Amino acid sequence: MKKVFCIGELLIDFVAERQGNDLSKATEFTKKAGGAPANVACAISKLGGNGVFIGCVGEDPFGKFLLDTLKNEGVDISHTQQSETFTTLAFVSIAEDGERDFVFDRGADRELTYDPELRKSLKGNMLHLGAATALLGGPLEKAYGKYLFDGLTKDMFISFDPNFRGDLWKDDEETFIKKCMPLVEKSHLCKFSMEEAQLISGKQDLHEACDKLHQIGTQVITVTLGKEGTLLSANGTKKIIPSVSVEPVDTTGAGDAFIGCLLYQISDLGNFDPVFEDFDLLEKMVATANKAGAITTTKYGAIVALPTKDQLSE
Ligand code: ATP
Repeated sequence: MKKVFCIGELLIDFVAERQGNDLSKATEFTKKAGGAPANVACAISKLGGNGVFIGCVGEDPFGKFLLDTLKNEGVDISHTQQSETFTTLAFVSIAEDGERDFVFDRGADRELTYDPELRKSLKGNMLHLGAATALLGGPLEKAYGKYLFDGLTKDMFISFDPNFRGDLWKDDEETFIKKCMPLVEKSHLCKFSMEEAQLISGKQDLHEACDKLHQIGTQVITVTLGKEGTLLSANGTKKIIPSVSVEPVDTTGAGDAFIGCLLYQISDLGNFDPVFEDFDLLEKMVATANKAGAITTTKYGAIVALPTKDQLSE
């Protein structure tokens, strides 16, 4: 089984309790581990795969909490760095209609530095890049570029999730789009939400959006569509793969569970060729990943709600 190195942010989400979406009125917060690439590493390890997290937290109690959380899920944190900078914190309140109020104090996650030793381990394995905070600058963004364009890592399978967050890119979507381009170009697999596919391609029609994104470079595209399932586009074929029916209570982390489950299945193939040649196999893998996403919506929280292998086969 291949290792899946997930690179990006790991941070604390302080989620406001009972205050609608107005942070100014919030008095109580619940501390939760957050960060899409870290969730993806957890999703892979929880299914029995080799999830490895590459990121940076502070040398403080929050950093310790985050590292303990990943370790408890079986994630390899031997490449995770710690810095003197405080752990990144996000304060968020979510109203019943999904509207968010958000304050972000960026700290240690931006400090991740490129590790020349690590590039040797990447050879022949898999790299998943999430971009919620990575493209906001700092050593982390530089490290992304180095891992992507390092000749030694050319044999690895690269996956990318833009994790577009409107609250982080207010009035500067153009920069976000520009920064995503080399990642879409270099990745074998990209996972988009509908909004991301439209934003990055500049096309409203999803089929045209996929065609444009393939032109930029990526061979396999998944566009997650919530309860409708996932649009899969690969090898000249496009198809919506339906999800299973569930009663959702919290959709946080569904996308991470989806891509984590898909990468886990790819990591178990032995070699990457079938991903590019066998649409039927990809379709089956996406259907399983849809189920992982659906199960995650049936519990509150992201990491605790991620399914095990047994839950997936029920
Ligand atoms: P994020 O978690 O970052 O919001 P996302 O928007 O990409 O990610 P979704 O589209 O909400 O994620 O969910 C990912 C996948 O999980 C979907 O493609 C679908 O297969 C499954 N899923 C999500 N919500 C539901 C639901 N209500 N019913 C059934 N399946 C769902």
